[in-house]
Amino acid sequence: MTLKTILIHPDPRLKKHCDPVTDFDRDLARFSDDMLETMYDAPGVGLAAPQVGLIKRMLVMDCAKEAEGTPEPMVLVNPEVTWTSEERNVYEEGCLSIPGQYAEVERPKMVRVKWQDVEGKAHEQEFDELWATCVQHEIDHLDGVLFIDYLKPLKRQMITRKMQKLKRDKARA
Ligand SMILES: [Zn+2]
Repeated sequence: MTLKTILIHPDPRLKKHCDPVTDFDRDLARFSDDMLETMYDAPGVGLAAPQVGLIKRMLVMDCAKEAEGTPEPMVLVNPEVTWTSEERNVYEEGCLSIPGQYAEVERPKMVRVKWQDVEGKAHEQEFDELWATCVQHEIDHLDGVLFIDYLKPLKRQMITRKMQKLKRDKARA
């Protein structure tokens, strides 16, 4: 397995509307393993393909590890939200592409999502609490949307400036 480089905001690849996955081949399975490894290494609870430069509709997540200690890795290919609850929930979100920055975001508390696995088999399941927030955050990435896009413009600009500085400092190091 190979650790992938996680793109840092602002990056045009993080603003792209991703293409559906059509080839369910060995490369896809291998890529999803690399994404999981990269996510656990970061560490994070979710990672979308565009965050590692692949402009395809695929994400990985595992929200179980933090709470219960038993990993529950999930790979969602071509995920689609099919239902959202009216009840909403606020979580403090962060993002591996926006390191060190956190903010409260309000989203539906529960969602139903359908997706395909790496072999192309269809699945559908409801997600609640942190899993629901995570899957919505990651699906947003596939449409070029970041959690900071839900914040007030001033706060968003402040975070973006911090990330620009971080990238400049990294490039110089
Ligand atoms: Zn993210």
